[in-house]
Amino acid sequence: MYVELAEDFKDTAFGEEASEILGKCVHCGFCTATCPTYQLLGDELDGPRGRIYLVKQLLESAEASETTRVHLDRCLTCRSCETTCPSGVHYGRLVELTRPKVEALSQRPRFERLQRWLLVRFLLSVWFGVLFRLGQIIRPALPQSLARHVLEKRPVGLRPESQGGRSVLMLEGCVQPSMAPQIDAAARRALAKLDVNVITANEAGCCGALALHLADNDRALNSMRRNIDAWWPQIEKGVDAIVMTASGCGVTVREYGQLLKDDPVYAEKAARVSAMTVDLCEYISPEDARALGSCSGKRVAFHSPCTLQHGQGITGRVERILESAGAILTPARNAHLCCGAAGTYSVFQPELASKLLDNKLSDLAQGDPEFIATANIGCLAHLSSKSDPPVRHWIELIDPAPPG
Ligand code: SF4
Ligand code: SF4
Repeated sequence: MYVELAEDFKDTAFGEEASEILGKCVHCGFCTATCPTYQLLGDELDGPRGRIYLVKQLLESAEASETTRVHLDRCLTCRSCETTCPSGVHYGRLVELTRPKVEALSQRPRFERLQRWLLVRFLLSVWFGVLFRLGQIIRPALPQSLARHVLEKRPVGLRPESQGGRSVLMLEGCVQPSMAPQIDAAARRALAKLDVNVITANEAGCCGALALHLADNDRALNSMRRNIDAWWPQIEKGVDAIVMTASGCGVTVREYGQLLKDDPVYAEKAARVSAMTVDLCEYISPEDARALGSCSGKRVAFHSPCTLQHGQGITGRVERILESAGAILTPARNAHLCCGAAGTYSVFQPELASKLLDNKLSDLAQGDPEFIATANIGCLAHLSSKSDPPVRHWIELIDPAPPG
């Protein structure tokens, strides 16, 4: 696809990178077949190819209309289209680059701006944890429509230390410690059993994904720099890896090198951080899983988050780990499709998110599972809001010392 850049974007980093990505698109439309929003809405502009044309228009005119904003807002950034694209179009990066321009060129209604401004600050503040815990306490008294959005409080158990030969950094992130602290506790127990010492850098926090989703790229980049500073002393001491228990964080940290490539102070460090980052399912092998907790005979449907399968290109790994621990994996249709969680998508696009969730739960129910397993806190919370079978992070199912 040829792009004639508008004067405003000529010789800019944005113009060059966006037009290079667009240049790979051959308009074939294969990607529309696997796009969840195109499947639901049937509108070309709600599929990747249509959105790519909207970005082309923006690049050529330096203008963005409400139409541009609405159709980009409806994109989940699930990157299913990237997996399908035969030309290697980095659609996710294109949208990430373009959203801040759309915000600047087509102003949102005041209320929407306020909502977005408040949400990112609330989720990253201590108030989120305080109110979430309060919500868990009063959950039994809440109406069902509200209670289903508050994850049930579950026992956390011990957080053992290992004196093992290997050490890894683990990112606890922003919302997961409040919503489901049992996930990182289970990961620590599993890694301790494998003689791996887990280090948490207290100063590290949100990976930057939340702000990035809301087109607040400056805030996102600052979160990334803070995390790099927090991890750097341990990296210099020789930790083995940076392990992620939420694939939504993993996909972002793996892109620190790309996102900070023009930062003269952080570019090199960011590239090293990205190269060292792995999902927990890459650090624990299927063979290791045999030494952990057994889930022998449990019928499990695995929902692979988009950030795991499309964003990080990790497929089949968790399934092999669970099978190795004795689980019976049940079939699920449309495994490539998003569940509708997608960061803050379920807050700003509740109707679409709800339809995607209903479809996903129906697909996962195909094999009548006892549990649904996943690998990302956002998907876990979204699926739990309507699922009959309990939804767990996969590491909880092979926890070597599950609490209570
Ligand atoms: S990222 Fe997902 S929702 Fe967005 S265009 Fe691609 S497939 Fe569709
Ligand atoms: S599949 Fe790739 S090349 Fe084809 S229209 Fe979609 S993005 Fe463009």
